[in-house]
This record gives sequence, C-alpha cells and structure tokens, in this order.
Amino acid sequence: MSISKDLCRADRFFVINGNLPVNLHHRSEIDFTICGLMLRSHQRYTSVKGINMSVEKELLARSESKCELCGAEDSLGIYEVAPSNGSAEQSVLICETCRGQIENPDTVDANHWRCLNDAMWSQVPAVQVMAWRMLTRLRSEGWPQDLLDMMYLEDEVRSWAESGSASDEEKIIHRDSNGAVLEAGDTVTLTKDLDVKGSSITAKRGTAVRNIRLVQDNAEQIEGRVDGQLIVILTKFVKK
Ligand SMILES: [Zn+2]
Repeated sequence: MSISKDLCRADRFFVINGNLPVNLHHRSEIDFTICGLMLRSHQRYTSVKGINMSVEKELLARSESKCELCGAEDSLGIYEVAPSNGSAEQSVLICETCRGQIENPDTVDANHWRCLNDAMWSQVPAVQVMAWRMLTRLRSEGWPQDLLDMMYLEDEVRSWAESGSASDEEKIIHRDSNGAVLEAGDTVTLTKDLDVKGSSITAKRGTAVRNIRLVQDNAEQIEGRVDGQLIVILTKFVKK
C-alpha cells in the first residue's frame, strides 16, 4: 500500500479533495493511518490525524468549497496563516496553484493574483491577511499597490498580516549604494535620474526622498514618494 509522498510530506497544507490514487478508494479508514494522515475512504478526503475534523468542515462551509483566494474548486487544502494556532479562524482553504506560488516566490505569476481584487474584500480576517501579504509581495507591479491603498484592515488584522513576514524581514537587510544600512523612515537622495515606470515623471538625481519604506521581501527595493507619487526605487540608486 502506498500513499503518495506528496500527502506524506504535507505539514502545513493538507490535501482535502485532491485526486487520490484510484486504488485507495475502497480501503477502510484504518488502512490509511500512515504518515500521520488518515484517508476517509468514502469521501476522498484526508486529514492529519489529531487535527479536529471540524476545522476542515468549517473551512469547506465558509469557503463554499472554493479556494478562498482565487475561487478554484480543485485541489483544495488547508493553509495555516502563520502565526496560526491551527484553528479555522487562523487558516484558509486554498488551491494548489495559490499554495505553490505562496510557498515558492520564484514561481509567482502576478496575473494569477488579480483574483485578490475580490478576495481582499472578504470578511474573513485570515483571507484578508493572505491577500495583504500577496499584494505586498507583488506591489512593485503597480496594481497591487492600488489595491493595498484601498484595502482596510482592522489594527489587529494588520499586525497579524505584518507579523507573518517578521522572520523573513530580519534576514533581509537593505543597503544604499555605499553599503549603509537603510531603515524605514530614512531620508535618501537619488544618485541618478530615474524614469518612473508607467508615468512621464523623471525623478531627478539629487532628489530627496523622505520617510522611505523597505520592500519586505526584496533587499534591493525601497519605496518612497516622488512628486507625491509612491514609487519603488532600487537601493543601488540611493544614498543616505
Ligand atoms: Zn487558488
């Protein structure tokens, strides 16, 4: 008997209605208590042993069995929105496509995330947090920033959204063209004329950009306002 390795290595993402090998369908529940996973044979659905089944039921009901980010109906699984206690409130139900891109930033297809245009208005805090995090990650595309500007998060939801990236943030250090460490709130000067993508503005060399923000997952990018417009600036073109 074998259960695919994919199921076995799931630690934070549990396949609920993914396609299981056909030959597993008619075995009894006990057969499948393997790798910490239990298959409910008649329902084609798996769960990590010990996790309250009601989390899955709650998520399936809340989401109407759709990916809470993109609406897809296939290959749904639980994704715990870190830091999470594993409850339905602190988890979302998402599809494999969303999960893959969340976990492997290199594979991100920005267009897929246009779905956040809808998801960001969810009443579910965990969905809001995921939408905020992905929009933040993609903000240099432009449109995600527009959505972020429209998005409203309660204070506690915002700190949850921000806390998830704290550990990554610690590893990423932003440095200016001279190697000096940049911090949020710093004022920097442009060392080169920069054309602002998607506009006719040229940010002149020597322009001071006050109160910069650091792009959390990219050590080479900061954000700041030039002529009132929030733009992404490469750290190699600024100095403190
Ligand atoms: Zn999805």
